[in-house]
Amino acid sequence: MIKNIVEIIKNYPTVVLTGAGISTESGIPDFRSKNGIYSKYSEEIFNIDFFYNHPEKFYKILYEIFHPMYSAKPNTAHKLLAKLEKQSLINGIITQNIDNLHFKAGSTNVIELHGNATKFYCTKCKKNYSYNEILNSFKCNCGGLIRPDIVFFGEELPKDQWENALNLVEKSKAMLIMGSSLVVYPAAYLPVIVKKNHGKIIIINKGPTALDDLADIKMNISVVDFANLLENYLCLTD
Ligand SMILES: [Zn+2]
Repeated sequence: MIKNIVEIIKNYPTVVLTGAGISTESGIPDFRSKNGIYSKYSEEIFNIDFFYNHPEKFYKILYEIFHPMYSAKPNTAHKLLAKLEKQSLINGIITQNIDNLHFKAGSTNVIELHGNATKFYCTKCKKNYSYNEILNSFKCNCGGLIRPDIVFFGEELPKDQWENALNLVEKSKAMLIMGSSLVVYPAAYLPVIVKKNHGKIIIINKGPTALDDLADIKMNISVVDFANLLENYLCLTD
């Protein structure tokens, strides 16, 4: 199966789509799984109205649950994708994750559909802030409220990110999906576009996904195990 996957990646322009499953391997809690963040806190905390109405409550939770994200390290799967990009074997990465791990791993063409939790900005004057800068106060010097650069429930995806994603997908003839159960829209719509354009779909996910029927190849293994197999096959070195 690895041989078939390598043949596709080598012969077709390939875009990668990643989801929470690639980050749980770096110790980042998933949102939707059984022991995920939503099992402890209600989804309401990521509602944009909740944020504006209760910023102090939101930040109290943010310090608690986002903290592991900032110290997390990219794993073999993130590093593999960075290597594949360097060797021009993939076009780029579209991710649903907000943890910055693809950039930490060295990937450069990364489209973050849901934003980046390591970045913050003032809602009034747009000044940028880092996580360390908001540890003491989430009020900007101008008096404005500082928010994380992520997409809340009740907000649209950033237009430019979504358009970049669509462009990348339209240019690709194959999609490698890693660690997503493909239930969150509109990200889950992207593989459908590839299929409509008669492209190949490869799904690497432990457990079923909503689009398994679309897959040309489905491997029911962890993304890290997959990364090790592929690295060995391609003889990639650090
Ligand atoms: Zn400001």
